[in-house]
Parts: sequence; C-alpha cells; structure tokens
Amino acid sequence: MSTYLRLPVTFVKGEGVWLWDDRGDCYLDALSGIAVCGLGHSHPTLAKALCEQANLLIHTSNLYHIEKQALLAERLVSLSGMDNVFFCNSGAEANEAAIKLARLYGHNKGIELPTIIVMERSFHGRTMATLTATGNRKAQAGFEPLLAGFLRVPYDDLNAVAQIAASNKQVVAVLMETYQGEGGVNFPQINYLQGLRQLCDQNNWLLMLDEVQCGIGRTGKWFAFQHSGIVPDVMTLAKGLGSGVPIGACIARGDAANVFKPGNHASTFGGNPLACTAALTTLDVIEKDHLMENAVSIGDYIRGRFKEKLANWSDVIQIRGQGLMLGIELPVPCGELVKEALKHRLLINVTSEKVVRLLPALIMKQAEAEQVVEIASEIIGKFLESQTEVAIMRDKLGSFH
Ligand SMILES: *Cc1c(COP(=O)(O)O)cnc(C)c1O
Repeated sequence: MSTYLRLPVTFVKGEGVWLWDDRGDCYLDALSGIAVCGLGHSHPTLAKALCEQANLLIHTSNLYHIEKQALLAERLVSLSGMDNVFFCNSGAEANEAAIKLARLYGHNKGIELPTIIVMERSFHGRTMATLTATGNRKAQAGFEPLLAGFLRVPYDDLNAVAQIAASNKQVVAVLMETYQGEGGVNFPQINYLQGLRQLCDQNNWLLMLDEVQCGIGRTGKWFAFQHSGIVPDVMTLAKGLGSGVPIGACIARGDAANVFKPGNHASTFGGNPLACTAALTTLDVIEKDHLMENAVSIGDYIRGRFKEKLANWSDVIQIRGQGLMLGIELPVPCGELVKEALKHRLLINVTSEKVVRLLPALIMKQAEAEQVVEIASEIIGKFLESQTEVAIMRDKLGSFH
C-alpha cells in the first residue's frame, strides 16, 4: 500500500555507517534506519550471533520458557534498575502494553475511567491507542474516533501537570518520551523529570517513559532518564534494542511490575530466541566497545563543529542534542534538505518540518562525523541562502504596490 513517500534509492549492502545502493554508489548514513542500527550496518558480531542462533532455534512460543528471553530480561532489569519485562515486536506495541498496564493498574485501584496524561508534539506509534497518545493532529486525522482516557499537556510544563493533579482524580499515569524524537528533537529543562517523578509519587501515578528512540545508549547512557537521576515506573523500548531485528520491550518496576497476570496480555512473536539474541548481542557490543562513551564524544564533536560551520547563519534557531540524538532547528520548513543530502550521498532526516535530525550509529568515527558536518552544513547554508533570496524577492515585489 502506498503508506510511504519513498526516496528514489534502493540499498543492497551495508557496513559500519556506510550503505551501498543497487548501482554500487556509497552513502554516508547519519540516520541509522531512524535510531535502529546503533551498531552500524550488519555488524559482524551481530551477524555471527544471529547465524548461530538461527541454526540452533528461531522460534518456539511463549507457552514455554525461553532461555534467551530470560537472559535479556535479567540484563534489561539490571541496566535500568527496574523489575519485570514484557517483550513484543515494536515501539507501538511496547507503548500499547504500557497503556493497557496503566488502565489495569487504575481499575485495580477502583478508578472507573483511568486517564493517562500525554504530551503535545509526542509520538508513540500508529496503533489506535498509541495514535491517540501521539500529539500530532496530522497523524490522527481520518482515524477518528480516537480512544477516550487521554489528557494532553504541553511538554516540559510541570505546572500544567500539577494543575491536573489538583483537580482530576481519574488520572493513573503520565506517558511521555524522555526526549522527544519525531516532535522535533526536544529536550526538557534539567529539573522537569524530577518534578514529574515527585508529582507521580504524590498522586500514585505511574511515570511511563517512552525510550523507543532515545534509549539504548543513544544519548550516552543506557536510558535517557538516567541523566536525571530518577527511575520511571514503566519504560518502553524498541528501535535500537534489536539493531534491526524487530523487538520491543515494556519494562516495569515496583507496583507496576506485577499488574499483568497470566492472560492479561500476550504476543506470539514477542521475545523469541532470534530477536532476544539480537538484543543481547547489541547490549554486549555497546558495553564491550564503549559505544556510549563514543556517542558522547562524537555527539559533542558534531554539535561543536556545526556551531562553527553554521556560525554565520544567525537564522539557525538552535543546534541541540545529547550524545547522538541531534537536531538543527531552522526558521522555515526544510523537508527538501533530505533529497538534497541524498544527492550528496548523505542520509539525514527532517522532522517536525523545520528540524534537521541526525541519529548516527553509536560506532561513528570522528572522520566520518566530520564528513557528515561538512556535507550537511554546506547544504543547510545553501538552503538558507536561497531562502534569504526568496525573502528579498518578496520584499521587492511588495514594494511595487
Ligand atoms: C518510532 C517510535 C515509536 C513507534 O515505534 P514502532 O516500532 O514504529 O511502532 C514509538 N515511540 C517513539 C518515541 C518512537 O520514536
């Protein structure tokens, strides 16, 4: 079905941060399949582990114990400081599990219409519940009726949440991206998460953090919430977890960890031996090769170099990021930059219309990062120049009247 407006290129091979198309041309990938291929493309350790597991056992069923799933759950629990994990196959499913968990948690407390606070400009997926939670009218349009039981507030606005706490007794949880991806690569103020944690504690709400995009080492820690010293009650993961083999996880702690009982929720594929091998290997390589340290230093390098290269463009609104989750906000819609970059054999993305988004693999080297900056800043500079010309033309035309 024509659900995608695809770019005119077909990739057939990948290695590290490089991709080759079907004509043999080589591209520098600064997007990593949208934060999925953190280890770069077809990492040899991952490819080997997948081959070995495929030869041994690919799928059984959650009717039985699954060794690799138990190992992965233990690993995620110890990295996050949380308690229990439910495995699924995507980010939307992980959030769907979180939403169901929050509703059941509410009903168990006698709340009849459990309500979840969600954020403006958020993205949580395309299933009906996660689409309802998503703060983007364009994505929702045409799919009404949406679900009941969600209340929206601005991101990074603690007062808005506090006001709801004072008046609404149906709220059971806050669901938000720790750092927003699709909504424009947005980071909250330093004390926001701590403030939310406090509000959730005072009101017995679950703090549910969607780390589908910002998790798994991308920001320099395993999980973005770890920068703020809090721990959520529920966290969702997907994208980078399996390095391209579909896997999602909904992780919970404390009271939230034991809400689901047998029969409450399930997935046929979720946590199968092949997918769990992909995730276990991903976590191993990130740790052994110090990729989070690399994400921090390469991320700092890229931001610093963009600030130098784009210094003369006062209309660049902001160059922001943490680790290798990076955004360059421009004053005007700049979607055409994606095609322009492709012509220069560079893969980037534009989100929220005006934000150039970079999500490079955690293995990116400094020389590769420098190439990204050189190409991207050149096309951004040319784009802004053409915009200035358009504005001058408009002014001139205006003065004739
Ligand atoms: C991509 C994304 C999702 C949805 O994940 P899918 O695997 O496409 O269902 C959910 N939340 C966030 C923050 C995402 O970036």
